[in-house]
Amino acid sequence: MTVVAEDGLAACPECDELHSRRPLPPGTKARCVRCGTTLYRAPSRRPDQMVPVVIAALILFVLANVYPIVILRAQGLVNAATLPASILALWREGQEPMALLVFATTWVFPLFDLLTVLTLLLLHRRVVRPPLFARLLRLLLMVRPWGMIEVLMLGVMVSLIKLSKMADVMPGIALWAFIGLTVLLAVILSYDVRVLWQPPQRRGVS
Ligand SMILES: [Zn+2]
Repeated sequence: MTVVAEDGLAACPECDELHSRRPLPPGTKARCVRCGTTLYRAPSRRPDQMVPVVIAALILFVLANVYPIVILRAQGLVNAATLPASILALWREGQEPMALLVFATTWVFPLFDLLTVLTLLLLHRRVVRPPLFARLLRLLLMVRPWGMIEVLMLGVMVSLIKLSKMADVMPGIALWAFIGLTVLLAVILSYDVRVLWQPPQRRGVS
């Protein structure tokens, strides 16, 4: 992990070479002069442009949990199931590991990531940052590689599609919300939160 200190120094994660950090044109990245390792990338979006994306994702998260994710039709019976109800059903059917995996990937990881990123984006603008800011940012950087949220969420969708072989499955509102959430999460996860170490640029100074 590249450590970008608030004093504008960036240490190479491979060889520890110190570099002074400079603003980059959008879409480019800075490499270590000694070993060529990527040090940091220029964000394609400003932190304040990410706030509406995260809020939209949180709204989709709520919709994905409140509305039925699938409507099953089997032997004349119609059964609408929400995501939490489906997880509970998995658990009751003795598939505890699967239930825990689905719960972690569709609930714990996305909710933790969204709430943490939103908190960081909102605290980012403060002149004096609370100690919580650095702690949350380190925690997020630590947890993210284990999340693989968008990959695992795709897995959940595939298993839902497999269900359609057992019963007549109609997508519920929550499934569309879930697909939208997966897309937004991919955008949010590709946002390099390490740029938030840098205090916001003062307006009117070029
Ligand atoms: Zn290096």
